[in-house]
Formats: sequence, C-alpha cells, structure tokens
Amino acid sequence: MNKSVIIVGAGVGGLATAVKLLSKGYNVTIYEKNTRIGGRVNLIETDNFRFDLTASILMTPEIYKDVFRYVGKDYKDYINFIDLDPIYRAFYFDGSHFDLFRDIGKLTESLETLSKKDSIGYYKFLSKVYEKYLIANKYFLNNSFSQPLDFFNFVSLQKMLKINTFSNAYTHISSYIDSDNLRNLIAFQSLYVGISPFDGPNIYNLVPTISQLYGLTHLEGGMYSYIEALEKMIYEFGGKIITDTPVEEIVIENGSATGIKSKSGIDKADIVVCNADFPYAIKELIKDNEAKGKYTDKKISKMKYSCSTFIMHLGLKKKYPELSVHNIYIGDDFEKNIQSAFFKNVPENPSLYIYCPSKIDDTMAKEDMECINITVRVPNLLSNDITWNEETINIMKDRVFAQLSNIESLSDIQENIIYESVTTPYDMLTRFNSYGGTSFGLSPTLLQTNYFRPHIKSPTVDDLYFVGNSVHPGTGISIVLLSSKLVVEEILKKL
Ligand SMILES: Cc1cc2nc3c(=O)[nH]c(=O)nc-3n(C[C@H](O)[C@H](O)[C@H](O)COP(=O)(O)OP(=O)(O)OC[C@H]3O[C@@H](n4cnc5c(N)ncnc54)[C@H](O)[C@@H]3O)c2cc1C
Repeated sequence: MNKSVIIVGAGVGGLATAVKLLSKGYNVTIYEKNTRIGGRVNLIETDNFRFDLTASILMTPEIYKDVFRYVGKDYKDYINFIDLDPIYRAFYFDGSHFDLFRDIGKLTESLETLSKKDSIGYYKFLSKVYEKYLIANKYFLNNSFSQPLDFFNFVSLQKMLKINTFSNAYTHISSYIDSDNLRNLIAFQSLYVGISPFDGPNIYNLVPTISQLYGLTHLEGGMYSYIEALEKMIYEFGGKIITDTPVEEIVIENGSATGIKSKSGIDKADIVVCNADFPYAIKELIKDNEAKGKYTDKKISKMKYSCSTFIMHLGLKKKYPELSVHNIYIGDDFEKNIQSAFFKNVPENPSLYIYCPSKIDDTMAKEDMECINITVRVPNLLSNDITWNEETINIMKDRVFAQLSNIESLSDIQENIIYESVTTPYDMLTRFNSYGGTSFGLSPTLLQTNYFRPHIKSPTVDDLYFVGNSVHPGTGISIVLLSSKLVVEEILKKL
C-alpha cells in the first residue's frame, strides 16, 4: 500500500513538497489553517486589482521550473515567465534616479553615469560574490546536513571559510564601490533575507549578485500564479487540501510522528511534514519535551529573528509610467533608517521597495490603472513596545507618503488612490503563525545557517520533517523550494 503523508501548512514549501511526493505515489493530505492556501505568498483580489500580498521578486526561475520537471510536467502549461529589464529602478531622496539593467551594454552605460571606477568596481564585486555563490550552491544549499559529518568535514569547513569573510555586507560592498547611491542600492537588496547589511554576513550580497547575473523575472498574474499552479498539480495527482483547519498537535507515539490532531480529531499518517514556521511549530504543535530536543521554549525565545515588514497595497486610478516593476527608493540617512528595523523602532525616513506589476502585466490592474505595493522594513514583534494599532499605521502611512513626495513623478499619488489596505507584522503573526511576526523567519546569522539552522529531518522524532523559511537552507521562495527538494530526497532515501 502507498505510504501516507500529512503536511501541516499550505505555504509554498508545503505545496511543492506535496506535488513531488504525490508524483512518487504517496497519498498526501495538506492541512491549512486559512481559507486561502499559499501562506505568505498570498493574494488580495478586488474588482479592479490583483495584488501579491508579500513576495514579488522572483530570482533563479530555474528552481521554480524544477518542480514541474521533477513531476514530469511542462511549466509552460501552467505559468508564464516574463524577463525584466531594467531589473530595478532606484529613486533617491534628492530627486535623482538610476537604472540597473539586465542588458550588459545598457548596464555599463548606466554605471558610467556614476563613474568609470564604480563601473569597474561593480563588475569586480559581482565576480567575487558569484564565486562565493557557486561554492554555496554546491556545498551548502543542496546538502541536507542531517548528519554532523555532512558539515564537520575538511572540505565543508574549508569552503565555509572561503565564502564567509568576516566583514559585514555593507563594508564588503564599500570595498568595491565609492558611490553612496550605488552602495545603498546594493545593500538594500541584501536586506531581503531580513538581516541588516550593516551587521549581517557579507554572504548575503549574493542576493543582489544573483539578481544582476541571472536577472529578475515576473510571473504573469503575479507570484500567486505559482501557488495556483502548484494547487492545480496537487489536484491532478489526486492530493487533498483541507483548508480552514488549524493543526493543534503533531501526534508522536514511541518516538515517531504518527499523524496530527485538529478540530476534526486525529488523522493518522506514516509521515508528517511540518511547513508551519519552525519556532512556532516546535513550541505549539509538539507537546512532548523529549521530542522538542534542544529546541526548548527558552532556546526558541533566545534565538535571533529576522525583521518584519509594513506593506501598503495601493490601487491607483491612473498610470505612473516612470515606475519600473521593481523600484527602490533610498531615503535620507539610509543607515540609521535601515538599522531602525533591527533596533526596535519604526524608521522616520524610511527607504522603500515599490512593486508595480501592472507596469507590464494587464492581469494585475484594469486598463489605465496601477496596482502598487510599498514595503518598509520594520521591527518584528519580539522585545519592543510597538503596537500595530490605527495610530501606528497612520504614522507609518504619513512617513511613506512624505518620502514619496521626494519622487516628482509620484507626488500626486494620494489623490489617485481608489483602493488601500495595509499588512503589518501583526498579520504575519496571526494569519500565518509566523513566530514573533517576522517576515522571513529565523535570522540567517552565521550561527543559524547550514548545520546550525534547524534541520529538515527531525533529529529526535522519526518520520517527522520540516520545510520552510526557518529551517535549512533559509528564507525566500527559491530557497524554500530547495528546502522542499531536500525534504523529498530525505523521505525517498529512507524508503
Ligand atoms: C513581506 C514579505 C516579502 C517577501 N518578499 C519576497 C520576495 O520578493 N521574493 C522571495 O523569494 N521571497 C520573499 N519573501 C519570503 C517568502 O515569501 C517566504 O520565504 C516563503 O513564502 C515562506 O514559505 P513557507 O512555505 O516557508 O511558509 P509560509 O508561507 O509561512 O507557510 C506556512 C503555512 O502554514 C500555515 N500554518 C501555520 N500554522 C498552521 C497550523 N497550526 N495548522 C495548519 N496550517 C498552519 C500558514 O497559514 C501558512 O499557510 C517575502 C516575505 C514577506 C513576508
């Protein structure tokens, strides 16, 4: 008889794992607490607009396509990728702007408007970080580290030292580039893993590097169309998704996971894969202290967590041709305002990420309208006194609009809003059970990566696996897809 698998959570990690296991003949049931699947990769739909709730930057499309290849399907039957050029438009508080092109000729011309020295510096920076990326990809991102010897061996340790030079991301960027504008634009992208470029290890400079070298891609219909594609394949393979049903407990008997408990009672399975955020799941869904292993409540509360985000979704009744799909606004006093998110304050002059998919995708907004997300990094809900009530939300909105007034072409934006909603750290906590309301899960500090990050295979409970952004290899959709690949390999290895 085919083995049965229960997956707790229908985030991108849970869904990708389900499709792959179904294609190998497993019986898979997914339990999701919310009505709509997708987890943080989610959707707001109105009569005029289709907003991606959070994630929007699609790097390394090959990893997205890999799920289709693995299960013998053609991705073109499900989704449509559109390459972007420029990959980013940067706006600065002094009114200037700068484009990062994918096309190397246009990129070089754009860089030379800063200086020839910075143009050379940027290419040297890319080449250095690319070398590190190839090492990380070969030795770390695709290794499950389920055994100590997988990590503590001569080759891994030597490679680890090679990729982790000890300067922070910003210092590393500055050693190649003089222009503050370009430095800040690169550093802003290394923030995407939820760690400060002024403190975080310079390995996260691989985010801007991968974006530049492999380009950025847009999915027609936005990021949620990837979730819709995974859902479609799950049903085609005969999988089951049960929504509106929070799992209350992962049932463990004699050292093995044997099912889950929900409002409908106990559902038994041979294997349980937990996609709910790891620190939340260990604390709330695993009741047995021995099964928690080293992740006691005390340890969970002492670990380091990524920042969170404040997002405004704005539906606009006119087009803003000056916007690109991905825009970064660099505000005054960049370092102080970026560091706010990590020092427990909301920023006064926030730098902004502005996503405008309707620039190239008619399915995201009605004709002559624009849908934009504006995202600000803010503190998570751990150890600070910020309450995300109407007053805080209004303060944040005013600060965002004050910054937008520095971009001449967007100065009338407030007059043209016909839809508005916000997503706060509190939504991350209550909607998705993200521990501490973080946006990106456990912080990827050096002591919380690779072997030191929670493992995808429980070391204490048989037949229990974890997939998602707080476990190895880390955060971001493509990295979570790698986590799902590793989980499937581990499950098949056991068979
Ligand atoms: C604001 C923001 C912007 C981002 N931008 C990008 C980006 O541009 N590009 C990118 O690649 N990544 C981005 N990310 C990161 C990316 O979205 C995440 O890394 C990824 O979506 C995490 O997927 P996951 O499967 O690990 O978990 P989640 O999406 O957290 O899914 C977990 C699922 O488990 C469910 N669940 C929790 N508890 C229970 C329970 N008890 N019972 C049943 N179900 C439960 C949740 O409801 C959820 O559906 C962004 C994230 C945020 C928040």
